[in-house]
Amino acid sequence: MIEKDLGFVLRRYNFRETSLITTLYTSRFGKIRGIFKGFYTFKKEFSSSLDIFTLNEFVFYPKKSEIWLISHADLVSDFSYLREDLPKAKVGALLLNLLDKTMPLWDGNLQIFNLVNDCLNSLKQDNEVKVLYVFLIKFLSLSGFKPEFNHCMKCQKTLDDEFYFSVAKGGLVCNVCGKNVGDLKKITKQACRSLLYIQNNDLSLIDRLKVSRSCEEEFFYILGRFLGYHFEFNDLINSDFFPVLPQLVSQY
Ligand SMILES: [Zn+2]
Repeated sequence: MIEKDLGFVLRRYNFRETSLITTLYTSRFGKIRGIFKGFYTFKKEFSSSLDIFTLNEFVFYPKKSEIWLISHADLVSDFSYLREDLPKAKVGALLLNLLDKTMPLWDGNLQIFNLVNDCLNSLKQDNEVKVLYVFLIKFLSLSGFKPEFNHCMKCQKTLDDEFYFSVAKGGLVCNVCGKNVGDLKKITKQACRSLLYIQNNDLSLIDRLKVSRSCEEEFFYILGRFLGYHFEFNDLINSDFFPVLPQLVSQY
């Protein structure tokens, strides 16, 4: 059956002389792979350039084989400002790479789709470091890997004094239960409370949250290692846009 859906271009490569194969993240079908036959013959059915950092409306034919035929593409939004600012472009590319590398095919998640759309839009005016950590914290919750920042993962005790985070356990561990846990990292109360606040509130409220530079460093330390351990996604740990990261990681 023929379908119509909105989608971001995550990845693209040329196929034979005139065609294009892409990976897209759509609102209803999740990640899909599609071929645009005759894309480089300037068919009128493809009015979008299908660049990275574009949102498009597609018409396609879902089937059991991995690559679907896409017959129409129309540009909906062009996040062209991302191509003019290198730090913002790196954050935008990291969001799309994360979807490309970690999302399974054909597993629609409208909330993740909306989160990507909101974050790419907010990169226009907001600080890219904040957009990145808010995206990552929300993404982990929405993809079912929500790190626990309120109570101990083992005994369920609510914690309000000392905070030790275990990447392997996926959250906080109290000082009693932590005796047998090998990868504990002490985090500050301020960082812990801010992470919890971001998990539990809408983007409009998070906008007003002030986070210190040292808290941001704690966020990226936890998020980078968490994504590496649970998703085998090391782009954040290896990225150079946040120069403090490699240094923090080597101290671990
Ligand atoms: Zn405990």
